[in-house]
Amino acid sequence: MDPPALQLLRRKLIDGNHILHHHGILDAYGHLSVRHPLDPDIFIMSRNIAPGLLASPDDLIEYTVSTGQPLDSSSPGGFVERHIHSEIYARHPDVHSVAHSHAEAVLPYTIAMDVPLRACTHMAGFLGAAPVPVYDVAEHTEDGSDLLVREGTLARELARHFDDGCVVALMRGHGFTVVAERVELAVLRAIYTQKNAVVQTAAMTLCAAVNPPGGNPGRGIRYLSEEEAVAAAHMTRWSAKRPWGLWLREVEESGLYLNQG
Ligand SMILES: [Zn+2]
Repeated sequence: MDPPALQLLRRKLIDGNHILHHHGILDAYGHLSVRHPLDPDIFIMSRNIAPGLLASPDDLIEYTVSTGQPLDSSSPGGFVERHIHSEIYARHPDVHSVAHSHAEAVLPYTIAMDVPLRACTHMAGFLGAAPVPVYDVAEHTEDGSDLLVREGTLARELARHFDDGCVVALMRGHGFTVVAERVELAVLRAIYTQKNAVVQTAAMTLCAAVNPPGGNPGRGIRYLSEEEAVAAAHMTRWSAKRPWGLWLREVEESGLYLNQG
């Protein structure tokens, strides 16, 4: 029988996948992972299925952090982008959960290079006061890349973006990746990264409506200051259990999701 801590975390990982699907952060693509609760050199993520259909501990694969390869060579096929997760866990020992998303509200900020994503609401203070960095896989590949982070070398470059306390990185023409010290916080950060993008886009639209090109630039958008971002990030860290309880009930009641963990 597996240790209770492992059973609990597997169940939570399945719930987290369902919550992210329910909120449009994951569709048939994207993934969520956790570091093993008893062995930091292992991480756990779904086999190659749509996150909303993940249902059983048998759907989960244990990978070695240092290689991104499954512990059990007979495991079912996994995601080709699992190296995003393995390289982040290898470089950042304090990270215990990683989410990777292609959410549409965030995508414009991965391609509009003159318009950085920035924290503009208190629920997204974890983004920090500086523009969210954008990782461009094409800078590390030959022409004709499909923009997937298929192997360790590419993922290693992405993992550097999480140095110095950065917890979100955008990926050009692709999506974004968030990290956290626990799965509830990774899920919260993924959801509120998308919500912040929606709000920022709306605010920019309002500003453009009253300040057309060539007109008076006006006062523009007021983003969170460094101090505000730090304080707001602290707030979501201690309060993450509240939305998790609500989001869990939503997926339990929806009728779509199954958790046999
Ligand atoms: Zn992806």
